[in-house]
Amino acid sequence: MWVKAVDIVLDHMVMQGSDLSTVAAIGGSAQQHGSLYWSHHGIHTLKNLDPEKFLHVQLDDSAFTVKRTPIWMDSSTEKQCIEMETAIGGRTKMVSITGSKCYARFTGPQIRKIYQERPHVYEETKRISLVSSFLASVFLCDIAPIDYGDASGMNLFDIKMKNWSAQCLNACAPDLYERLGKPVPTSTIIGNVGNFFVHRFGFPVDCKVTAFTGDNLSALSGMVVEQDCLVMSLGTSDTLIMNLKEQVHLEGGHVLCHPTELNHFMGLLCFRNGSLVRDDFNKTEANCDWAKFNELLDSTPRGNHGNMALHLRSVEIIPNIKGVLRWNRNNSRKSKESSKGVQKFLSPQTEVRALIEGQMIHKRAVAEDMGFHFGRNTKIIATGGASVNKSILQVISDVFNATVFVQNKSEAALFGAAFRAKYALYLNSFKNVNGTYYEESLIGKESTRPLSYRDYIIQYIPHHLQLLCEPSKDCDQIYSPMLERYRDMSIVLAKV
Ligand code: ADP
Repeated sequence: MWVKAVDIVLDHMVMQGSDLSTVAAIGGSAQQHGSLYWSHHGIHTLKNLDPEKFLHVQLDDSAFTVKRTPIWMDSSTEKQCIEMETAIGGRTKMVSITGSKCYARFTGPQIRKIYQERPHVYEETKRISLVSSFLASVFLCDIAPIDYGDASGMNLFDIKMKNWSAQCLNACAPDLYERLGKPVPTSTIIGNVGNFFVHRFGFPVDCKVTAFTGDNLSALSGMVVEQDCLVMSLGTSDTLIMNLKEQVHLEGGHVLCHPTELNHFMGLLCFRNGSLVRDDFNKTEANCDWAKFNELLDSTPRGNHGNMALHLRSVEIIPNIKGVLRWNRNNSRKSKESSKGVQKFLSPQTEVRALIEGQMIHKRAVAEDMGFHFGRNTKIIATGGASVNKSILQVISDVFNATVFVQNKSEAALFGAAFRAKYALYLNSFKNVNGTYYEESLIGKESTRPLSYRDYIIQYIPHHLQLLCEPSKDCDQIYSPMLERYRDMSIVLAKV
């Protein structure tokens, strides 16, 4: 299906008049965690594709040893997660090596399951690709390396050493290194486009292919954020993405290798109780009308007269707790009775503000724990479905005491892929000496070092952010004490 999709997309592009002979480099982004298993025959076919025929006719089932690709929605590998963590000495060790505890959807546990349940299939597998490196392989007409960023979503990669962790590989399956191949930095040129694409679609012979990466990583590169930007995605699930200078240890979050800053990391936090709870309140309190919902929200003051709520209907990821708790201004942890809070607030206005403020205070507390430093220059970039809602964005601005922007262009992951390809091409015009780039003719002179990814790309997108909300003057005074109350409320919920 995925191979056929490449046939279809390229045919459409040609039919719509795209001149593919002008393509200088190709970058890519694909869903994280999924894995593909190449057979010996598949690799041979990939290297010898006939431009007269469709890709899917040639790279058919026989090219792969596993016909149904495991993807991120597969949660059937809890057993393998426990085995892998135990084998390397525990969860803490797994987090410190790979940046994440073992997750069922992560590729390492998925590979282990195949090795255990279908050993002959594992035996016949010559190479394993992630969805991103698989797609790059198709364009390269050879097996493409896995990039550091997407490798960080496998529970196999040492994110500090930038290589596969021998301990994690051993805990997963035998002879895995040769099946995964040597990983590469994300903004790397991995070769020229394969002959198939030159002859069938007219790509130039020297068109470069850069390493492809996972969608969240690509989205971060598409937003071209500064160090003090926090990306808040309010889509089907709420997500916070941030730049981290150092690896922090947080069991419920993910730390990945940064897609564009080689020695930095990317923090990724997911929240289960986000838009689904907001959708539900929109239904019960505002008759499914976001305009009405916003009227309710806007008619209450910041701080909500001391009324606060946590609506964690499903078990939250961080903190790992569940439950609903409403506190009015008098509730506190001082006595057991008082800490139970109230059943319901007196008005829908109070309910709605308590929900949104509670959700955002929760996110701020978790981001701080993750090591994100809030300061005067902090900016938030909002994306996803709810980022059209200015009343919600104003609450975010106030709670985080930060300006909130939205991006003028949507499809950040797609733009990220294109930007990385462009930057990789730029870097390629410099000479790489032990990981440092210099202008070819002037090796050794500091001044000839290339621009950073951000400084280079920003020239092409000068007005990509639109300022939507600024924090109110009194917000720190109001929300700092509420942050403390939030921590008390989560302690209460943890005990329930
Ligand atoms: P996905 O992550 O699947 O791409 P979207 O980014 O399209 O999802 O976001 C979908 C969510 O956007 C819905 O669950 C809904 O809660 C939210 N949404 C859409 N419009 C609004 C709005 N005006 N105000 C608040 N939330 C909204």
